[in-house]
Parts: sequence; structure tokens; C-alpha cells
Amino acid sequence: MSESLSRIAIVGAGIAGLTTALALLQRGFDVDVFEQSEILNEVGAGLQLSPNGVKVLMELGLSDQVAAIACAAAGKEVRLWNTGQTWKLFDLGQDSIDRFGAPYWTVHRGDLHRVLLDACRERAASRLHTGRRCIGVTQHDGGVDLHFASGVARYAAVVAADGVHSQVRQALFGAEQASFTGLIAWRSTIPIAELPAELQRPVGVNWVGPGAHVITYPLRRGELLNFVGIVEKQTWSVESWTSHGTREDCARDFRGWHPLVQILTGAVEAPLQWALLSRPPLERYAVGNVCLIGDAAHPTLPFLAQGAVMALEDSLLLARCLEKCRAPQDAFRRFEELRLQRTAAIVRGSSENAKRFHHPELADQTRAAAYVDREWQPDLVRRRYDWLFDYDPRTIEI
Ligand SMILES: Cc1cc2nc3c(=O)[nH]c(=O)nc-3n(C[C@H](O)[C@H](O)[C@H](O)COP(=O)(O)OP(=O)(O)OC[C@H]3O[C@@H](n4cnc5c(N)ncnc54)[C@H](O)[C@@H]3O)c2cc1C
Repeated sequence: MSESLSRIAIVGAGIAGLTTALALLQRGFDVDVFEQSEILNEVGAGLQLSPNGVKVLMELGLSDQVAAIACAAAGKEVRLWNTGQTWKLFDLGQDSIDRFGAPYWTVHRGDLHRVLLDACRERAASRLHTGRRCIGVTQHDGGVDLHFASGVARYAAVVAADGVHSQVRQALFGAEQASFTGLIAWRSTIPIAELPAELQRPVGVNWVGPGAHVITYPLRRGELLNFVGIVEKQTWSVESWTSHGTREDCARDFRGWHPLVQILTGAVEAPLQWALLSRPPLERYAVGNVCLIGDAAHPTLPFLAQGAVMALEDSLLLARCLEKCRAPQDAFRRFEELRLQRTAAIVRGSSENAKRFHHPELADQTRAAAYVDREWQPDLVRRRYDWLFDYDPRTIEI
């Protein structure tokens, strides 16, 4: 590694920031991570980690730690919102390992974050700086200045992993606010033992319906069921992008749905409401020696379950580019070449799934089943998902 590349700052200690720190430390880089929160504990609920993301955790030597807090569902199903009619989406379990070279895991976001954080603390505890909100970046010949309320720190390069409201993105590309997509997400976890046997099966389910859908899957070794209910809404009147809602409001959004969905909405505790946001796609992720990754670069609707997975892919590939190229800006150029097209295709595919999951034909008793038959034909499903899961950020040529 050349001397000029040795000091790298990462803004944000979410999944993208911590994974990048670990991948860079693994390659001998000198890394500082700056996180705005004083205390690092992740909110949110479940995350599905498809094999393309799990391969990154394997490369970092964390597969045992994540396996210990994960759940490997046997497969995924599509179910009709009112009748409960069921279709296989795809098999997982051993099939995922055989076909894609890694398991498909579901985890609690807080559990995954804890594994990443523990590994960072073990490998470079003094390099994690909490309560440090980045308020701007400026570039000059000698590198990049990171600005904080308390002063300025100078680095050879900066990786911005500061999420959908990224300050660094604004500094690089202008102060455009993320916009509301017209979709909100209810998120909660339910102790599985409290649910009827049919909801305890080790499968992930996409309940599809007109204007809304529900995703469930087991997590934390099968102790919890993750519940996500996505609903179309005209407006978002709360000031924050996340807020606590009530079980009654959540249940109201799924009135008339199958009795099993009613059981789920009756069981959620203090569900969180998230406004789903989007930004127009970028044509670049880097300017000079500063590069965006994760949600800061390509926020997406979660309907291919690839937001955190893309963050994992970005992290390893960016570290590999920095290892290979002499100058940060060359590394970032190569990173863009590798990532722009794939991440844009994932963001597009996720939006297409929103239309598919909420299609008006699902309201029509006589046409709904035929619509699902048509939209989730096995060869279409393979075309939609195999290219995602097959990807291996460990072996992509840099
Ligand atoms: C309902 C829902 C379901 C989802 N399901 C899945 C799924 O199943 N699978 C999947 O792969 N993805 C899923 N996602 C997407 C996933 O949660 C995100 O894509 C992922 O968490 C992005 O990680 P990140 O590290 O880029 O950003 P974040 O997790 O947003 O982390 C950003 C970090 O930067 C810090 N920060 C922000 N600004 C500053 C600053 N100025 N200075 C210092 N620190 C700062 C923040 O405090 C935070 O710690 C889902 C999302 C939603 C909403």
C-alpha cells in the first residue's frame, strides 16, 4: 500500500461504514470511523441477507458470529392477501448454498450491527469516534478535510457511509432533500412462540395485495418473526422519517386481509413507522478523493431486500479497489465502474417489485390468482433473483 493511501476516514458507523472499516483494516489500512450518535445501538427490525451479501461476511471472517444470531429460512412463498392461497417463490436453506455458494440468512439489524461493532472494537477500538457529526468536506491537493463542530481533521481519502440523509452527498452533489415515495413501512418483531403453528413455519412470506403488502420471516435463531407491512399513503405528516405508531393504526391498514395477517397485526408491539424515501440516481459516486457508498450513494426501496446487502458488496469492493490502485481517485473511479450499473439495476428492480406486489389486479377475485401465476412463473423468478444472489464481491476482477 502506498503511503499516500494510508489514512482513510469513514463517515457513519452503520452497516456500510463498519463493514468498510473491517475490510480496510483486513488489508492493512489506517482507518478512522466517525459516527454522529453518542451511543451505537441500531433501531429497526429484520434484515434479509442474501448470499451475495453473506459472502462479504465470510470474507471478513465473521460467518460463525453471524450464523450464531441468524436464521436460515427453508424458502420463500408468495401468498394472496385475502384468500391466503400460496405459491413457492424459491427454495433457500441448502439450495442457496448449493446454487449460490453461501447461505441466505435473516438477522435482526441490531444483532448484525453488534457483530460488526464488536469486530471493529476488537481490531481497532481506538479508531471508532462516536458523537462526531460530520458537517462538511473540502478537498485540496494534499487530501480531504472533514469538518466537525469541534474542528477539522485531514485525510488522504474519505468514504461517506452516512445513509440516506448524507451530509457528504449534499456537499458533493448539492443540497437536494430525499423525497417521500408514497409508501410507509410498519416494522416490528413478534416472539414466534406466541403465534399459531402456521406462522411458526421456517419460511419467509410475501403477502401481496392491492396497494399494500406484508413481509414476514423468522430471525434470531427462529425466536422472533419479523413483520414488515408496506402501505401506500398520500402524505407523511410526521416531522421525522421514523416514528412509533400504534397496533390499532397498523391493524387498520390491513383490515379485510387474511385472518393470519390479522393475527400478526394484533401481535405487533409498539410498531415503528418508516417513511420510505428515494433520491434520483447519481451518475457518479465519487468526486476526487471522496466516495459515497451504501444508502448515501444509492438509497433503494426494500422490495428486493438488497439495501444493506448492496452496502456489504460496496464495502468489500471499495476496500479491494483501494488495495489495488495507487491513488484514491483511481480506486474510486474503478469502484464506480464496478458499481454504478449494478446498483442502479437493483434500485430499478426494487421499484418494479413495488408495482408487482401492489398490483390492482390483486383486488379482483376472478383475476388475482392468474395474475400471481403469471408474474411469479419460475423462470421469471429466476431471472429476477439469480443475478443478484450469484454475484461474488470476493472474486470480481478489480
Ligand atoms: C422497511 C425496510 C426494510 C429493509 N429490509 C432490508 C432487507 O431485508 N435487506 C437489506 O439488505 N436491506 C434492507 N433494508 C435497507 C437497509 O436497512 C439499508 O439499505 C441499510 O441499512 C443502509 O446502511 P448504511 O450503512 O448505508 O446506512 P445507515 O444504516 O443509514 O447508516 C448511516 C450511519 O451514518 C450515521 N451518520 C449519518 N449522518 C452522519 C454525519 N453527518 N456524521 C457522522 N455520522 C453520520 C448514522 O447515524 C448511521 O449510523 C430495509 C430498509 C427498510 C426501510
